[in-house]
Amino acid sequence: MGARIIDGKARAVRIREKVAAEVARLGADHGLVPGLAVVLVGEDPASQVYVRNKARQTAESGMRSFEHRLPGATSEKELLDLVARLNADSAVHGILVQLPLPAHIDAARVIDAIDPDKDVDGFHVVNAGRLMVGFEGMVPCTPLGCLVLLRDVMDDVSGAEAVVVGRSNIVGKPMAQLLLRENATVTIAHSRTRDLPAVCRRADILVAAVGRPEMIRGDWIKPGAVVIDVGINRVPAPERGEGKSRLVGDVAFAEAAEVAGAITPVPGGVGPMTIACLLANTVTAACRIHGLPVPADLLSG
Ligand code: NDP
Repeated sequence: MGARIIDGKARAVRIREKVAAEVARLGADHGLVPGLAVVLVGEDPASQVYVRNKARQTAESGMRSFEHRLPGATSEKELLDLVARLNADSAVHGILVQLPLPAHIDAARVIDAIDPDKDVDGFHVVNAGRLMVGFEGMVPCTPLGCLVLLRDVMDDVSGAEAVVVGRSNIVGKPMAQLLLRENATVTIAHSRTRDLPAVCRRADILVAAVGRPEMIRGDWIKPGAVVIDVGINRVPAPERGEGKSRLVGDVAFAEAAEVAGAITPVPGGVGPMTIACLLANTVTAACRIHGLPVPADLLSG
């Protein structure tokens, strides 16, 4: 194994420490306690784990955490009414509605109802537009975390060939925008891309956000490339016992680590960065709402 393993877990701890220090300073200097509201509709087990972790880490960082757990039968109107109340609540600086929502609720309409300045997930169309045109806004947490990890191992992204596999609104597209902002030459690949292995082999930076276990093989990777694996896929692991499973990324890690210059593992790579960036975004939102300077170094190394 030749690649440097990028430790997202340790990096996320450092961000959380900086967030906690900044929250303490905001409280002491301005009497401001940032608040994050997390809304969960229904009983999806994975979402319940995410929401619990988000709420716990929010509270541990000294911020106020507001958890709203609604039954699966909640109507779209009831959810929109809650979002309106949170928009108007001065103790709430960040609002996150956990996805996926039950099928009878239009997720786009709900996201659209969130005040863009409190949209700490960065999914609102206004924030997507701000990112695209280069205005100050809220950047989606997972691609933001990927960029932090990338910058840690690459002195200069400028001019590099970057390939993002996946074009979702929450990962692939904002990731491509962030890389473009860093002056990379960006290709977005997807399920219709012809000869994906050849496209990937061009990449100095390869970001995989596909949702297909270990699809990207070692011989798709340019020697020395930085590989950021966003995928989180649960696969059967009979070797661990009957009915057991394990998490793998979208990249065949062992093969890729032989070739890449640096690579994120799954778990322990991009995953922990997402919540850390969510906390940082909440501090940013609180500062902007109160007209205070946004701390510049929450995400720096
Ligand atoms: P989506 O399903 O929304 O998007 C997947 C993308 O992959 C699509 O653009 C799709 O192309 C493309 N794709 C699918 N199959 C292929 C293929 N065979 N070849 C090339 N491209 C393909 O997924 P998300 O963006 O929401 O998530 C991607 C992965 O990242 C998932 O594993 C998810 O669990 C993980 N994730 C991890 C997070 C974290 O915190 N670490 C946060 C969010 C997601 P097309 O558009 O043509 O259909």
